Amino acid sequence: MVTFEAIKIARHTIADTINSTPILRSTQLSKLFGNHMFFKAEHLQQTGSFKIRGATNKVKQAVKDGASLVTAASSGNHGQAVAYIANQLGIPATIVVPEDANQSKLNAIKAYHGSIEKCGYTSADRLPRAEALAKENQGVVIPPYDDPLIIAGQGTVGFEILEQLEDVDVVVVPIGGGGLISGILTAIKEKKPSIKIIGVEPDTAQDTFLSLQSGQITSIPPTRTIADGLRTTHPGHVTFPIVQHYIDDVVLVREPEIKAALSLVLERMKQLIEPSSAVTVAAAMFNKISVHNKNVVCVLSGGNVDIRLIETMIQ
Ligand SMILES: *Cc1c(COP(=O)(O)O)cnc(C)c1O
Repeated sequence: MVTFEAIKIARHTIADTINSTPILRSTQLSKLFGNHMFFKAEHLQQTGSFKIRGATNKVKQAVKDGASLVTAASSGNHGQAVAYIANQLGIPATIVVPEDANQSKLNAIKAYHGSIEKCGYTSADRLPRAEALAKENQGVVIPPYDDPLIIAGQGTVGFEILEQLEDVDVVVVPIGGGGLISGILTAIKEKKPSIKIIGVEPDTAQDTFLSLQSGQITSIPPTRTIADGLRTTHPGHVTFPIVQHYIDDVVLVREPEIKAALSLVLERMKQLIEPSSAVTVAAAMFNKISVHNKNVVCVLSGGNVDIRLIETMIQ
């Protein structure tokens, strides 16, 4: 279990690495959505997503424990975050990516001096390779979400929201494996349980929604949602009990709604966010959170999007 105290410690641990990101407001989106809209800007975070928070908390501990290598099995934001913080701390990182990983993601990992190893096409192929590499080299695998130190690191997003805004009614958070939301739930529900926390998934990647309905971790087949940070097929064994304990609601958004929200944020707020972030805006935009005239914080979880994709997304 993760505690508020663990999040406070994480905050201290990662303070010299991460940005305390601003909360943006938009009068235009507030008018359109019928709520007072605030946006926690993790797309302006180091490495372009909140993932650096948990990764920093975990990699610093690994270094303290004497690890001589860290590995991760992700070509996305988590892989980039692990490569970045390992380089900052002067320890090598090997990021295991799928054979078909796109070049812009590989370039980002290389820019942070991470080594790349290609292996298979699914996370079921990659994770054993990341584990074997770690084992051979006195290293540590840095998991993307299902780990108490990762969750505590991501929870610092919630800690900052409490500090930055006096009156919050609702916080809207994307759900992949659930690391981000279980951290935010722990930070906020232990201090201000009256704040509602609503999770959002693409309707094709609704594994947490289904798991909550059935009361147990439930897997779905691999999906192709445009929100590539949310393509997990089941919630984690550490994250799910936290989500189950605290969450107020999970809502689903459709692919065209995600694209419309991303376009709106770009056009009206001049902010470039990635589809995995846009799901929270889509939930507010398409009336899925059923509140009015409330103070609503959408977490904009990241901004790493292949620029060539933008054109295809804008209507
Ligand atoms: C990883 C990620 C998520 C999902 O976070 P989980 O901790 O897996 O739930 C959401 N948005 C972005 C941009 C991400 O990189």
